[in-house]
Amino acid sequence: MTKKALIVDDAKVVRISLGRIMQALGFEVLEAANGALAQEQMQAHDDISVVLLDWNMPVMNGYDFLVALRSDAKHITEPSVIMVTTETGMPSMLKALAAGADEYIMKPFDKEMVMDKLDIVGIAYEK
Ligand SMILES: [Mg+2]
Repeated sequence: MTKKALIVDDAKVVRISLGRIMQALGFEVLEAANGALAQEQMQAHDDISVVLLDWNMPVMNGYDFLVALRSDAKHITEPSVIMVTTETGMPSMLKALAAGADEYIMKPFDKEMVMDKLDIVGIAYEK
């Protein structure tokens, strides 16, 4: 069964480039431009394996989305969340990990970095 990846970023260029990488790795890709739209995607799809989550977005940022996701009993451990952000200071990283993020990718990213993080989180993909 094809695994679903949800890409959440307000920058369309990031959604496109990350989407291409995830499609090449065999994922069905869903997109959202902010945390609130990501919540709608989560409600529409209860089988999302991994969320690739930007931090700085309008309406609802990635951190607030993450906190809400992990406080929902249904989603405490699922899906895996990988932050993909320029918010790479240690305090921000620790804050996101404490809130339930599984891994961290610093922009700019490439396919190798995404594969490395999927390996660490334990999400299988096609090569
Ligand atoms: Mg952003």
